[in-house]
Amino acid sequence: MQELILDVQRLRKYFKGPGGFLEGRVSFLKALDGVSFQVFPGETFGFVGESGCGKSTLGKTILGIYRATGGHVIFKGRDITRLPRKQAIRIRSEIQYVYQDPGSSLDPHWKIRKILAEPLHIHTHMKRVAIEERTREMLKAVGLGEEHLGLYPHEFSGGQQRRLGLARILCLNPSLVILDEPTSGLDVSVQATILKLFLDLKSRFNLTYLFISHNLSVVRMMCQRLAVMYAGKIMEMGDTPAVFERPIHPYTQFLLSAIPTIEKKTGSSEEIPLSGEPPNPEDFPPGCRFHPRCPHAMDRCKKEAPEFRLQGKDRWSACHLDLK
Ligand code: SF4
Repeated sequence: MQELILDVQRLRKYFKGPGGFLEGRVSFLKALDGVSFQVFPGETFGFVGESGCGKSTLGKTILGIYRATGGHVIFKGRDITRLPRKQAIRIRSEIQYVYQDPGSSLDPHWKIRKILAEPLHIHTHMKRVAIEERTREMLKAVGLGEEHLGLYPHEFSGGQQRRLGLARILCLNPSLVILDEPTSGLDVSVQATILKLFLDLKSRFNLTYLFISHNLSVVRMMCQRLAVMYAGKIMEMGDTPAVFERPIHPYTQFLLSAIPTIEKKTGSSEEIPLSGEPPNPEDFPPGCRFHPRCPHAMDRCKKEAPEFRLQGKDRWSACHLDLK
């Protein structure tokens, strides 16, 4: 069996709810509630879902920005969920996160030379000359040049800032990169060049991507497998072409039916109507969290949470219906 690069087991992340005490108890906002999946080296694994479904919290909990409430993150065979700080910093230099808005993660007072060199000073014992060489090499890899080393972040366009964000994380030679909404806010033409760059860098540096996005068309193009999230849980998981060809979970069916195409206008008869809003993460409905919006909901769905189970070849789903 192929070795895993990442094995996430029943991962939970609860935040103390803004509502404070409910019936004398502290309320919790359950951003992640028992998420399990596995990623193989070299693949691009996508996470999709509406905003607030927990996909960004998932990325940040894997990286260790948020401390997990429960469950395990196994990276290259090692449980990194609760490592002592020093070991965590070392291991986690192998896992890097590309933020939705890379401009905000680049210090506006620093020149690019210093921004790119900083992680190398923190995580390695490289000498100044080697650091300079490495930063030039990574700038070149993302399509920028050494003439950019003396500039400030605000002197770059949105697309170039994304390139800088990538150069910065590549300096550390990561093996797993978490891309959080990597094309949001970019013009379509720039999106295409950035996506191509992701593919080039992936094969050149042997990277594995976790690709978090609400853009289903981009996920379809980039990811070999994907998971559909709703209210802190995975609803469906499988090979991307198969899920797009035949989604089995009612929530996935709704999401995919809502993708606008040239032939299909919004509100057309092919779009599956869905009423209501995603539930309050401080107060999820009992049973299946999707039941208040599901067109197939039965009595059982209101009382019993469906198990996340294998339904057919390589397809996982959380639904009481027999979906094979
Ligand atoms: Fe719909 Fe019931 Fe399946 Fe939930 S378990 S998705 S409510 S049919």
